Amino acid sequence: MTTDHGFPLFSLAGRRALVTGSSKGIGYAIAEGLAAHGASIVLNARSAGPLEEARAQLASTGAEVAARACDVTDPHAVAAMIASIEDEIGPIDILINNAGIQHRAPLDEFPIEAWKRLTATNLDSVFYVAQAAAQRMIPRRSGKIVNICSVQSELARPNIAPYTATKGAVKMLTKGMATDWARHGLQCNGLAPGYFATELNDALVKDEAFSGWLAKRTPAGRWGEVSELIGAAVFLSSDASSFVNGHILYVDGGITASL
Ligand code: NDP
Repeated sequence: MTTDHGFPLFSLAGRRALVTGSSKGIGYAIAEGLAAHGASIVLNARSAGPLEEARAQLASTGAEVAARACDVTDPHAVAAMIASIEDEIGPIDILINNAGIQHRAPLDEFPIEAWKRLTATNLDSVFYVAQAAAQRMIPRRSGKIVNICSVQSELARPNIAPYTATKGAVKMLTKGMATDWARHGLQCNGLAPGYFATELNDALVKDEAFSGWLAKRTPAGRWGEVSELIGAAVFLSSDASSFVNGHILYVDGGITASL
């Protein structure tokens, strides 16, 4: 049996990737990993200063990299960002929907404003950015969309029920995207990290009891390193995953595999 695409399967040479929420943390690590496999990168975040620092840092590795400051909770700003990338830089081949936030509080006291910010950032933005990108990808019959899900797409934990709700919804939105857009030549998959010591998890990193729980609960017995997400991101962004659609790939040290 032969395939239409050449080797190496994991090369991203000649591809352009937009990574939302990529001034730091998981988004930056994924951007760096895609660049190391040949992709040119467009970074995104709201805060212009940290975004420019990230752009300069990635450019210093020899990567081809641009940046677009944009709040992805604003559908008009998202449409303008996608148009400016496509018209001024070139086609987006790969979209990594990564921007996300956390807010911790007991559900009975959870502030309504925090609920609105969480759902806007973690869920609504995934639809806005994916739809605007897909409208460009569909006529080209080519595009890869990777939505960052979470172990919280599967598992509830105390004080983060709204976050869990958004990540469960992103998992199903990913399957819906694949169902609607596979026939147009797109692949839409989810990448679901376990626990990584980024700023989003500041409160947990400082909590020794949590680290003790994590060491027992995760078969691998430790936090993940953000660089350990790169292999999955490259796989889902490359020709290596050309017949993978609507799949959620957990990179979690085995946490969702065991009770
Ligand atoms: P960080 O807090 O380290 O980084 C979040 C990034 O998103 C920043 O660049 C931030 O920049 C940007 N961002 C936040 N809101 C917006 C917005 N409205 N528009 C554009 N950019 C935005 O988070 P992580 O790297 O930890 O998380 C990244 C993703 O991974 C999230 O979706 C998260 O839910 C998910 N995840 C994380 C896990 C972990 O253990 N850390 C586990 C499972 C999933 P700025 O504030 O300047 O906009």
